[in-house]
Amino acid sequence: MVVAANLGFPRIGCNRELKKALEQYWSGAISADALLSQGRRLRAEHWRVQQALGIERIPVNDFSLYDHVLDTAVLVGAVPRRYAGAGAAELDTYFAMARGLAGAAGPSAAAEVPAMEMTKWFDTNYHYIVPEFEPGQRFSLASTKPIDELVEARQLGVAGRVVLLGPVSFLLLGKMPGGQAGPLSLLDGLLAVYGELLARLAAAGAVWVQFDEPYLALDLTEETRQAFSHAYHRLNQASSDLSLMLASYFGGLGDNLPLALSLGTRGLHLDLVRAPRQLAEALPLVPSSTTLSLGVVDGRNVWRTDLDRALALVEQAVDVVGSDRVEVAPSCSLLHVPIDLEQETHLDGELRGWLAFARQKLAELSLLARAANEGRTAVEQELSASRQALADRRRSPRIHKPEVAARLSTIDPSLLERHSAYPQRADAQRKRLGLPRLPTTTIGSFPQTPDVRKARADFKAGRASPSDYESFCRGQIAGTVRAQEQIGLDVLAHGECERNDMVEYFAEQLDGYAITRNGWVQSYGSRCVKPPILFGDVARGQAMTVRWSSYAQSLSSRPVKGMLTGPVTMLKWSFVRDDQPLELTCRQIGLALRDEVLELEAAGIGIIQIDEPALREGLPLRRADWPTYLRWAVDAFRLAASAVRDETQIHTHMCYAQFADIFDAIVELDADVLSIETARSRMELLDTFRARGYPNEIGPGIYDIHSPRIPSRAEMEDMLRRACSCIDADRLWVNPDCGLKTRRWQEVIPALEAMVAAAQAVRAGSS
Ligand code: GLN
Ligand code: ZN
Repeated sequence: MVVAANLGFPRIGCNRELKKALEQYWSGAISADALLSQGRRLRAEHWRVQQALGIERIPVNDFSLYDHVLDTAVLVGAVPRRYAGAGAAELDTYFAMARGLAGAAGPSAAAEVPAMEMTKWFDTNYHYIVPEFEPGQRFSLASTKPIDELVEARQLGVAGRVVLLGPVSFLLLGKMPGGQAGPLSLLDGLLAVYGELLARLAAAGAVWVQFDEPYLALDLTEETRQAFSHAYHRLNQASSDLSLMLASYFGGLGDNLPLALSLGTRGLHLDLVRAPRQLAEALPLVPSSTTLSLGVVDGRNVWRTDLDRALALVEQAVDVVGSDRVEVAPSCSLLHVPIDLEQETHLDGELRGWLAFARQKLAELSLLARAANEGRTAVEQELSASRQALADRRRSPRIHKPEVAARLSTIDPSLLERHSAYPQRADAQRKRLGLPRLPTTTIGSFPQTPDVRKARADFKAGRASPSDYESFCRGQIAGTVRAQEQIGLDVLAHGECERNDMVEYFAEQLDGYAITRNGWVQSYGSRCVKPPILFGDVARGQAMTVRWSSYAQSLSSRPVKGMLTGPVTMLKWSFVRDDQPLELTCRQIGLALRDEVLELEAAGIGIIQIDEPALREGLPLRRADWPTYLRWAVDAFRLAASAVRDETQIHTHMCYAQFADIFDAIVELDADVLSIETARSRMELLDTFRARGYPNEIGPGIYDIHSPRIPSRAEMEDMLRRACSCIDADRLWVNPDCGLKTRRWQEVIPALEAMVAAAQAVRAGSS
């Protein structure tokens, strides 16, 4: 029998119950017991839902109070020493690692301990806590979480497949400062702990254990391949009573397929959404005792599955290995999709018919299993309903707009070029803008105060009229402009008070996008995001930002920047259509933004910033795929940016420090001014820019906005002088390293005043 399996269920709860409980616990409003029982309730509910939907392999230990990589670090006792004193309770240490420890005042003054580093989980928007190892790190089985949750599930009548992060991926996700060898040198010690854990799981009644090893879908070194062979050889020995399902996802195994098949696990999961063809490659090689888990339902996107296509893959596998050795599964954990489409009652029926969230995807899996076992005719009705929805979607005029296709067909390479090269443009801009050397500016947003959020919420809920909201925003903009003039900034911003989110704000106004009410996905810990759904051809109906920007400009004689979100970020932070190449979708967004850029220019806006914070994270997981991606990503940006006159200055902003890999692409964006995050890396990345000669203007962030600490003028002056030693001062700008929307005015004003003073001091000293 083909069985329906799941690799992971979203943890946050249908109404973000986990987020709410966590925040209440952190603020002291509820006890640890109350938080833990909310976790138990959510797990029970999620198991019940999966059971009711007919899922036979139900994941256990996929739940986490914060992050599954952090859970693994705590499980194996990899707790950096600085958190050891966080509190008697395990939970306090856990959250101290995730969130840091506030310093205590008074005689027992304890120093502030920052949180552990956090970074993106492969090519998703989920962030994990980066494990930290020390040379000679010892591991021990320091928590019983997976065992406890298995017992909990079994008590509720759920057999449960325990999910563990595999040892090789766990080590590779971590870092080992000060070590000569990398984290893989710690493998043997770690395997001993995994061995002990497996024995205890077997004793607690486990049958299947899922080992997630997403690194198997990446480019691997010989050392890593050997680590995999060694690790799974030992784990198979240690778990003779258990069946291991080895799961990789987010891509095909590619050249790692023979390695994965040689690891001797009882089961192997394949992502057949990102790499459907790997099934045909794998089938002739699968050992006769291996169960294949076929990831045929997209765990990364929100579309209804093409069941015929999925079923064809299932039948292809059953033909070769037999139905007893086939599972149908999502391509990866469902962590990355919202939970329940049923809640989106405001979306029209047609659009809803095209979509599937976690619950709907599980129902599809169970249907696929039935179709495989009982024959297509047994589920013909459901199959034909699904076929119909897909056909409707393919043909819908809401998706395919001939005007968009017609405009796209007129794009020729000249549209990607500014009229003149940077040096000429810089001249024209200098004359027009008349800025001092080392001009000061911000990245755009100013504090989103409770007032701002309330006004927006009232407006959206219909409690405030459009004209009330309009005048509220105008008041905010006027106050923000005045504050910036008083601080003495040279280039102002309107403050982005009208934007809930830099992507959703534009998605709400562009054709081809839909916004969900409750389509939340965990980003990290208690933080969730609600990505818009890009379902059809993108077009701009009317101006999106011009009235706010020109109002702000009317209030000041200094330049006010227009502020847009770039095409790659609009793409990367949305659920995007799967019926055409990403490249084409991105170009459509670029074209819509091009119109907005031109309209800002026509309204007299002299500087336009197009933010691309997601450019780097869009990099494909395999290096071989980088050049193609970077080509179309850069072109989409240039399509948006290049129509303006020489004297109109284009800025872009990115907030991460690892630039070396994409340096050439950043140069090719050909923005007149680039502002980047450097404050946290203490300007190290400027070395890259110096060594490789960044040709245009650049504003390295000299003030870390991620911390409530107000940097001193001396500190920023020092940063600025260092920047001057790497980059020609005539091409340097002075700015914070990201937007200020999460900060408070009390922090922002003195910090920006100090920043302006630092710029003045350096100007005076170097003139
Ligand atoms: N302009 C945006 C802001 O200031 C940029 C945000 C970002 O880089 N993520 O908030
Ligand atoms: Zn930023």
